[in-house]
Amino acid sequence: MDARKIIIAVDGYSSTGKSTFARTAAAKLGYLHLDSGALYRSVTLKGMESGAVSKECIDAGKLSELLGSLDITFGKTADGEFHTFINGADSESMIRSLKVSSCVSQVAELPFVRGFVDRILQGYGAGKGIVMDGRDIGTTVFPNAELKIFMTADKRTRALRRMKEMETSGGKIPFEEILANIEQRDYIDAHRKTSPLSKAPDAIVLDNSDMTLEQEIEWLGNILKDRFGICI
Ligand code: C5P
Repeated sequence: MDARKIIIAVDGYSSTGKSTFARTAAAKLGYLHLDSGALYRSVTLKGMESGAVSKECIDAGKLSELLGSLDITFGKTADGEFHTFINGADSESMIRSLKVSSCVSQVAELPFVRGFVDRILQGYGAGKGIVMDGRDIGTTVFPNAELKIFMTADKRTRALRRMKEMETSGGKIPFEEILANIEQRDYIDAHRKTSPLSKAPDAIVLDNSDMTLEQEIEWLGNILKDRFGICI
């Protein structure tokens, strides 16, 4: 593997498999993987627990105060998986619940929340050698990333994948409910005022509707080799 370290920004719509793709790419490259959505989800979870966030309303003052007490980190569990820890507690399964999914895009619209998350994310990028996935990584967090990928896929395919993923972790949610949540999050993410989801002009589109993960990584491998001389 080439020793050159670059920043790879992976953005795109909800449930396009960004994190799986980014995690696999990072492992192949020996890079760090960071799932920025996990930070927005963590803020949302803690906001809900404290009563600052509900489906009906967000108490911005209370949420802003809460941010000061949040320490969000990523670490390996005993079985080798990377999980999100909030103030030292493994919160991975809780941040992935549909309850959190139904409020997270509203929380992510708030400029002070975005500022809080961006500062954490940019701290990780200093040393390069990172694959970060989200909605605004190539446009706002790392506008100078050497490689930007914008992922998309047919929305019913995305909902089906998400449903299967939730089933494997024990949750059984109706397909239509998952589809509605994906549509709602896409809409809010693409229409918010601060850092809306959009393809950076220099991003390469990856439509993975009919692709396996293996094919996606092969696609990436070709780009890395052609553009940067990096082999995975
Ligand atoms: O990636 P994931 O679906 O887990 O992200 C959860 C939510 O966090 C998204 O629906 C979006 O509203 C928000 N998000 C964001 N900007 C990012 C990453 C996530 O607004 N960079």
